[in-house]
Amino acid sequence: MSRYGAAILLLLIVLFCAGSVRVEAPALVPVAAAPVTPAPAPTPGPDPTQQARDEMVHEQIAARGVADRDVLRAMTTVERHRFVPGSYQNLAYEDHPLPIGYGQTISQPYIVALMTEALKLEPGDRVLEVGTGSGYQAAILAEVGAEVYTVEIIPELAAQAEKLLRDLGYAQVHVKNLDGYFGWAEHAPYDAIIVTAAPDHLPQPLAGQLAEGGRLIVPIGPQGSVQTLWLFEKQGGELAATNLGAVRFVPLTGGEP
Ligand code: SAH
Repeated sequence: MSRYGAAILLLLIVLFCAGSVRVEAPALVPVAAAPVTPAPAPTPGPDPTQQARDEMVHEQIAARGVADRDVLRAMTTVERHRFVPGSYQNLAYEDHPLPIGYGQTISQPYIVALMTEALKLEPGDRVLEVGTGSGYQAAILAEVGAEVYTVEIIPELAAQAEKLLRDLGYAQVHVKNLDGYFGWAEHAPYDAIIVTAAPDHLPQPLAGQLAEGGRLIVPIGPQGSVQTLWLFEKQGGELAATNLGAVRFVPLTGGEP
């Protein structure tokens, strides 16, 4: 073969190889067929307050270790924004207490959940709450199935909470304008007692109104400072105390005979 012929043959081989590379099919990547679904029927948008409550429960309450399903469900259900003054409603699902007038506050949602869980309530348990305030904690107790007796020392707050709880249909919550240092003897003994204002010592009338096997939760400590949240459980007439950590509550007033 002449040098000229050899060059043509080489050129043909190169072209053939290049051509064979070019015609090589690209690897096929399987693509899932797009599901053919009809467009969803238009539905009303989600309730933004429900979404806020779901997030509150998920991020502030369950994330910090509250696990009782009934308590989480109650916190998801009760509309906290109904229990705060209009000017604070946009903050109702934030992680802090809020003013409710008369120098008082509705507690931080996490603390409400923590205290409710610590009471280990069974449906039908009789619960005394000292410090009705807005009525929010009472509504949570009712949602977990308790029969709630709640007392408030400020008459206007007691009247306001009683009306709101009635309007919301909580027939199992009974509100009274009383000095709760002395409990509410008429309906004692209670399976559980929750004090949502801080005394500087355990009020003995409350210990006396607690049933055998009952649970009493109360923040005890100096006014306007940090207190300790105590859980007392009555066994054989004696109270066993458990420290649940540092909290900050408005003071328990009253207590004078
Ligand atoms: N549990 C309430 C928060 C209460 S703030 C809620 O869910 O909104 C504490 C409340 O305890 C205040 O309303 C205050 O007026 C009330 N309080 C203080 N001392 C009291 C007493 N001796 N008896 C009854 N209520 C008292």
